[in-house]
Amino acid sequence: MRAPGKSTLDLLVGRERAKELFPLDDDDIKRQMLHDAGRRRPPDSNLPADDEGLFTRVYRWKEAVCMGLPHMFKGIDKVRHQLNKEVINLFLAGDYMHAPSVNGVMASGIDAARQAGEFLAKCIITPIKKPKKQG
Ligand SMILES: Cc1cc2nc3c(=O)[nH]c(=O)nc-3n(C[C@H](O)[C@H](O)[C@H](O)COP(=O)(O)OP(=O)(O)OC[C@H]3O[C@@H](n4cnc5c(N)ncnc54)[C@H](O)[C@@H]3O)c2cc1C
Repeated sequence: MRAPGKSTLDLLVGRERAKELFPLDDDDIKRQMLHDAGRRRPPDSNLPADDEGLFTRVYRWKEAVCMGLPHMFKGIDKVRHQLNKEVINLFLAGDYMHAPSVNGVMASGIDAARQAGEFLAKCIITPIKKPKKQG
């Protein structure tokens, strides 16, 4: 977010680095994170030139930050394929079916609704046959 000459900056850190930072006081966390962010400063960046900034709020969420882990998308794809083959009328939505963010969860909801719609349209055109009872 930019106001003339100023900006706000959200920095999110998890896993081992978060564990290192948790015990430090807020000022130390601010300095370390601004320092880290400034090390690969993009061109035209609004990052502060020092490690101070104007004001900071530090939140410590223990084991609560959603992480996109390596191979996660491959795993999600596998679940989707398995579901499509084995349970044809179940459509799951949630961040675990896409990416761990509000955007991801919205996209997964839209996907699930579209798949349910396509399934229902198929049922109307060719009703699904119930398996014959044995015996
Ligand atoms: C600390 C934190 C910060 C985040 N910051 C951001 C951010 O800045 N930007 C961003 O895009 N995303 C952020 N996220 C991620 C985002 O919040 C999630 O990806 C998103 O909310 C997931 O939505 P969902 O509907 O899949 O699950 P949820 O929002 O977790 O909803 C699941 C619901 O199911 C309910 N439930 C669970 N079990 C049962 C049960 N057995 N019976 C009935 N109900 C049940 C739960 O109570 C909950 O209401 C953040 C997440 C966390 C934890």
